[in-house]
Amino acid sequence: MSVSRPNYAPHPICLAAAQCTRWLQRCLPNLACLLCGEPSRTPVCSYCESDSAFYDKDALPINLLLRPAVASHIRHAHYRYLYACGNYQWPFTTLVHTLKFKRKPVAATILADWFITHVLRHRDRPAPQCILPVPLHFRRLQQRLYNQSAEIAYPIGRNMAVPVIESWARRCGKGAQHTRNRHERLLAARDAFVLSNACLDSVLEKGAAGQCVAIVDDVLTTGVTVDVLAAKLRQRYPWLAIEVWVMAVTPAPGQRRLSLEKV
Ligand SMILES: [Zn+2]
Repeated sequence: MSVSRPNYAPHPICLAAAQCTRWLQRCLPNLACLLCGEPSRTPVCSYCESDSAFYDKDALPINLLLRPAVASHIRHAHYRYLYACGNYQWPFTTLVHTLKFKRKPVAATILADWFITHVLRHRDRPAPQCILPVPLHFRRLQQRLYNQSAEIAYPIGRNMAVPVIESWARRCGKGAQHTRNRHERLLAARDAFVLSNACLDSVLEKGAAGQCVAIVDDVLTTGVTVDVLAAKLRQRYPWLAIEVWVMAVTPAPGQRRLSLEKV
């Protein structure tokens, strides 16, 4: 499986330190559940996993864009498939926060495993040609030392034997999207991302039918970021089908109290 790293990565010594921390986290025995803190040999205990609310896949389409309660508040002009584990509420809020702000990439492994088990095993489409983590701004990458979307994408890519390409695009805009409202996000996102020169040229066959890629992110709030990225991809590769894979979707304000079965 080929791996393509961005050329604006942090200093190699910082990356080596982060790799070492990751290796230690994998090798040392797990003592407590990341979610409840109770003793557990696995990063998330079986009680917390069974209490987690995943989207219903039996009664409703697994493609969330076919569910009006989700699609109505998500921008999706340039992609046709959206898959996620569940609403952005506990435990996804805790796991994403742990991944992004507590330097515990093990949370990414849990999210990726859940996505494989609860979503990909029920998805009835061919595997994509490649998996594309949403780029992180290089300043944030240098602070965090890893891109949380890439941390989620790699275990999924290994499971599916599909290449993960981090160098397909870069983020050059300023500031974090989660602090902006919908309109501000759209204006900022249009100029915030640039496709790389090579982009996906090495993995896509020009004009070939049935080719598909999956953009991976941790949380989808308004859909503006992934829609802008999908638009740029479609501009360069018009024949391409684009899927969006996220671990959780923020429900519309009026839907936050609805049960997942109704979503
Ligand atoms: Zn637990």
